[in-house]
Amino acid sequence: MIKQRALDDFRSTLRGDLLLPHDADYDATRRIFNAMIDRRPALIARCASAADVVACIGFARAEALEVSVRGGGHNVSGKAVCDGGLMIDLARMKGCRVDPARRTAYAEAGLTMAELDSNCQTFSLATPTGIVSTTGIAGLTLGGGIGWLGGKHGLSCDNLESIDMVTADGRLLGATATENPDLFWAVRGGGANLGVVTSFEYRLHEVGPVVGGGIAWPLARAQHVLPFYDELARACPDELSLNAGFFTVEDGTKLVGVNVAWIGSLDAGERVLKPLRSLDSPVADGIAPMGFLDLQRGGDGAFPRGRRHYWKASFLRRLERGAINVLVDFAATCPSPYTQVGLQQMHGQAARVSPTDTAFAHRHDQWDCLMLTQWVNPADDERNIRWTRELHAALQPWVEDAVYVNNLGDDEADRVRSAYGANFDRLVAIKAKYDPDNFFRGNQNVAATAGSQ
Ligand SMILES: Cc1cc2nc3c(=O)[nH]c(=O)nc-3n(C[C@H](O)[C@H](O)[C@H](O)COP(=O)(O)OP(=O)(O)OC[C@H]3O[C@@H](n4cnc5c(N)ncnc54)[C@H](O)[C@@H]3O)c2cc1C
Repeated sequence: MIKQRALDDFRSTLRGDLLLPHDADYDATRRIFNAMIDRRPALIARCASAADVVACIGFARAEALEVSVRGGGHNVSGKAVCDGGLMIDLARMKGCRVDPARRTAYAEAGLTMAELDSNCQTFSLATPTGIVSTTGIAGLTLGGGIGWLGGKHGLSCDNLESIDMVTADGRLLGATATENPDLFWAVRGGGANLGVVTSFEYRLHEVGPVVGGGIAWPLARAQHVLPFYDELARACPDELSLNAGFFTVEDGTKLVGVNVAWIGSLDAGERVLKPLRSLDSPVADGIAPMGFLDLQRGGDGAFPRGRRHYWKASFLRRLERGAINVLVDFAATCPSPYTQVGLQQMHGQAARVSPTDTAFAHRHDQWDCLMLTQWVNPADDERNIRWTRELHAALQPWVEDAVYVNNLGDDEADRVRSAYGANFDRLVAIKAKYDPDNFFRGNQNVAATAGSQ
């Protein structure tokens, strides 16, 4: 039981505010992207600064409270919210300063992708992020960050110059390639395990108008479209990134589609994309020149906040006929019209970084094979979850024992080792140095995984 005096003292040290269950904003603040997550923290600190985060760590330690850390609150596993502890909510920390001369952006941890992008695009600059612009930059970057600029400029974490982090003992540390380099290595892929990152400094790149959008065919054409897609990806230049998917349109028709992003001269993009656009008879072709912000927002409509989500994912190196058959069969029986199964390309610069340069180990030309199951009615939970698990199980002969940490669900602690592969032991050792008693465990936890082996 927390004494009122301690609570009052804590509240008075915060520049942000402190919410208790009876407060008006409490319910809206504890809710996150995935409506399946319904946890009730004892306290929510809406932090305004790194100093507030330091105060949170001190208070949680003094009161023996569990903590969770919320960036954008987008992660489907729901680790951003704890039951009964202190939720450290960074969503109001939205400072952003772009330095066009140095081509860097200093960004606080509560920014969404859309907010970072719009700041940077004022100067025709950008850094790699993801493909749905409501995602938080913090969780995205700390896990890796696979997106449209990946072929040309790498993952989000590959573009970090520095971070500021509040550690488990309440210190504010900087990390760069030369200052606390072990921490800097670990946060680039394993970040949520180490501490609370309060700000990021990103390297920026010139990005003007792009060629983006999608093209789609009837599901029955998938056996023809996907082998072509696999070959196209294998030969594609760094400027082009692709993302194939199975989805359902409003009238219930099931389609297979390919979304594209060409980051280069518009004429060259139109030429490179011509073979894809000439394939068969697409039912829709929305590929066109567009602004970078429109490209980044392109995925938003399919992922509104507040639906129920259960995801599975694995990396896939080659789209073989057997894997395509499984994907097509499951797409045909998918219980929810909102679900998408995606094959998000990772290649080019993102794949060329050495697997041991950062904690993100999975550096290959490959697909992130995503089973993004979403629905509305709680009565449909069981059949949607079952369908997702069965699809993932059926794909096992073709997928790698490798997964992107940001796609792991709340029930996948047994796959955390597969998220780090050969880097797992080094990450565990750095975790032990900076967080020896596993204070930060509301994440895909490497210490618990190591301890259970
Ligand atoms: C619709 C949708 C589309 C997506 N598309 C992509 C994509 O294209 N590419 C891609 O790479 N990923 C994608 N993702 C996955 C996304 O990268 C993760 O869900 C990511 O964790 C979201 O970050 P967040 O800050 O919003 O999440 P949160 O839920 O707030 O946090 C996720 C984890 O990170 C921890 N964390 C958050 N902030 C901090 C911090 N500042 N310091 C320390 N730990 C912190 C949390 O405690 C939690 O464990 C997508 C997710 C969704 C829901």
